Amino acid sequence: MKPKKNKPTKPVEKKMTVKDRGKKSAAVAAAPEKAPNKKTYNVLRGMHDILPKEEKYWKLVSQAAESLAEYFQFGRIETPLLEETSLFVRSIGRGTDVVDKEMYSFEDRDGARVCLRPEATASVVRAYIGNGMWNMTQPIKVWYQGPMFRHDRPQAGRYREFFQAGFETLGAKDPSADAELILVAYSFFKDIGLPVTVAINSIGTPEERERYINELTSYYRSKRSYLCEECRARLAKNPLRLLDCKEAGCQPVKESAPQIVDWLTEESRSYFMKVLEYLDELSIPYMLTPTLVRGLDYYTHTVFEIYPVLNKPDNQAEQTQPGQPRELGSAGSPDLPAGRQGAVAGGGRYDLLIEELGGRPAPAAGVAIGIERAIVALKAYNEENKIVFSEPKFTIFFAQLGDEAKRRALKIITDLRGSGIRVAFNFFKNSLKTQLETANSLGVAYVVILGQKEVQDKTVIVRDMESGVQEIVDQKKLEHILKKKLETESGK
Ligand code: AMP
Repeated sequence: MKPKKNKPTKPVEKKMTVKDRGKKSAAVAAAPEKAPNKKTYNVLRGMHDILPKEEKYWKLVSQAAESLAEYFQFGRIETPLLEETSLFVRSIGRGTDVVDKEMYSFEDRDGARVCLRPEATASVVRAYIGNGMWNMTQPIKVWYQGPMFRHDRPQAGRYREFFQAGFETLGAKDPSADAELILVAYSFFKDIGLPVTVAINSIGTPEERERYINELTSYYRSKRSYLCEECRARLAKNPLRLLDCKEAGCQPVKESAPQIVDWLTEESRSYFMKVLEYLDELSIPYMLTPTLVRGLDYYTHTVFEIYPVLNKPDNQAEQTQPGQPRELGSAGSPDLPAGRQGAVAGGGRYDLLIEELGGRPAPAAGVAIGIERAIVALKAYNEENKIVFSEPKFTIFFAQLGDEAKRRALKIITDLRGSGIRVAFNFFKNSLKTQLETANSLGVAYVVILGQKEVQDKTVIVRDMESGVQEIVDQKKLEHILKKKLETESGK
């Protein structure tokens, strides 16, 4: 057979493989302006990205929660984001906004009805029962931090994915347990620098509540014609929620409504008084709030919410004197100092939930802090009071000149990290002038300079930014010399 002559071929356009397509989309991602007809993606409604510029706040709140947990001996618990839907339906209850309108509930690939957790208490209780924690020495004190999901109507401070840090005490019923949880949450806000006040109430036992709800329902029925559309629906579905109404037209009705404290037995009342005595002793500012009932079914006895006190830093002292709680009018939360801002934390006792979810009866209580709300309130408070948020500063900047110096610099910086010295640098700027400008804007005390010559000599130049004096230092001695300089610096 005659060998085929290799015909010079014109370049054929190769079909794009999946791999190539991946390459192309990476290029597109780097320069989106070149692909105007490609779909771009936005974050889902009600969800948000947490960007590096927010990091200082997130670090602050995480560290505050973690160190309180450590001090008050709450062990960390992590539960899955996904749980059986019925866990939340049974605990939070039908007729609540969370269950009726806000759950991200769907069928998974096995046909199981699952739900992105709207809160973590039910999950913690499930874990307490399922892991036999009820069999250990009681109480079990746990804390968590993580995202929750509620298909809520997005607005300022209200997201569909939001973070909570929560503390739960399971297997104990004592006023000190309720007070400790309030103290932990209160201390959290104190530690991050946000003045807050506690709105508190007792909703007693289910029997007491039922008697109260009967009274409340017949009172509201007699006022039906004055009520807003939503309140009329609440009257049929979940009468306690009538007390949450913020509609102006419903306020006069709400103000004269019967109050749950009047329907508590002596025992429940005395329990509540003991919790308040603890708060007095701890000088935690609180307001008795008869309309505070919390939305979820599982609460019993103590319920509370925490609100930021904005505007005046000394407002807190004005709000309550220990032993003299300020009684809120029955208008309740709208009268709170930062009603417009919303609660930054909420919690209460849930003595029947463990049994309701199939466990051996055991009392429990908990609190959840809304991280985004805490950060928003803290920023607003700092802004109003001209408080500058201090960040850890860099004291050393490493400047490099040339490729070889850059390589060596990265090694030296890594070694310095090993000895705990924090160094700022920017390898994407090559001129010494620009690097020194960056160093200046960071306000560092020293700049370490590594050029071609220093690489050869195995030295670096250490420049004192205040005096402008420079010295040549052996690379091997750099760590020791910087440590000494930093010690002197911190003593200044
Ligand atoms: P809850 O148990 O529902 O009262 O939630 C406790 C805390 O979580 C609230 O006081 C808020 O600070 C926060 N929180 C609740 N729902 C949202 C939401 N949709 N977006 C942001 N934070 C929320």
